[in-house]
Amino acid sequence: MKSRRDLMLEEMGLTPLWQLRGRAAAKEEAAAVPESRVTSHESRLTGADDRRAAIMGLAWAELKARVASCTDCPLHEKRNKAVFGVGDENADWLFVGEGPGAEEDAQGEPFVGQAGKLLDSMLAAINLKRGQNVYIANLIKCRPPGNRSPEPREALACEPYLHRQIELIRPRLIVALGKVAAVNLLARDASIASLRGQIHQFRGIPLIVTYHPAYLLRNLPDKAKGWVDLCFAVRVMSDLQKAPPPPSNIEIT
Ligand code: SF4
Repeated sequence: MKSRRDLMLEEMGLTPLWQLRGRAAAKEEAAAVPESRVTSHESRLTGADDRRAAIMGLAWAELKARVASCTDCPLHEKRNKAVFGVGDENADWLFVGEGPGAEEDAQGEPFVGQAGKLLDSMLAAINLKRGQNVYIANLIKCRPPGNRSPEPREALACEPYLHRQIELIRPRLIVALGKVAAVNLLARDASIASLRGQIHQFRGIPLIVTYHPAYLLRNLPDKAKGWVDLCFAVRVMSDLQKAPPPPSNIEIT
C-alpha cells in the first residue's frame, strides 16, 4: 500500500525523478609540472587568468555570444548547440545542473527532456515556474559525449561562464542539482548525502544541494528525499526574503 507521502508525491507528478556525476585533479596536475616546464606553465596560467578576467567583465549579450561560439575546451567539437541557460535574469532562485543531454544539445535549452519535465513539476510543487523568478543553468555549457561526466579540465574551462552568470543574476539562493554541480560550486569533494539539508555558501550566496532530476528518474525511492530538499529550500528562501536583498556589487574572483 502506498504511503500518504507517496500518494501526495504522485498527485504532484513527482513519483517517477534527478543525477550525479566530479573535479580535483587539476591542482595536483599543476603542482606536478616539471621544473623545465615552469615557464610555459606560468604562461598558461596567465592566459587562463586573462581569459577569466575577460569573461567576468562581459554583459549578458556578450556572455551569451561568447558561449555560443566558444571553442575553449574539446567539448565544442561534437556539440550541436551550446546551452547557455534560461530564465529570469533577476531571479531569486538559481538552479544549477551538470550539463546538457541530447535533447538540450539539440534545442539549446537546459532541462528540456524527461529530467526537465520533472524539474518543472518540482518547481510547480513549490509554486515556482521556469522563467518566473527562476533561472536554470548548467555547470557545463556543451554536451559531454555519451552524457559522461565532464572532465576536470572541462569543468574548469567552463566555470567562468557560470560564475559570471551568478554575478549578473545575484540570486538569493542557489540550488545545486546533483553532486557534480555541488562539488564544483563548493570546490570540495563530498557525498551528496553529506551535503543535503545544510546551507552552504558560494562566495557569500546561500547554496543548498539536492539530487539531479535525472538521478531521481532512475532512483524512485530517493524522490521523497528530493521533496524534503525542496521543502528545505522553500524555508531557506522564506528566511532570505525577510533579509535585505543581496548587494548589487557581488564580485566572484
Ligand atoms: Fe566552451 Fe564550456 Fe563549451 Fe567547453 S563546455 S567549449 S569551455 S562553452
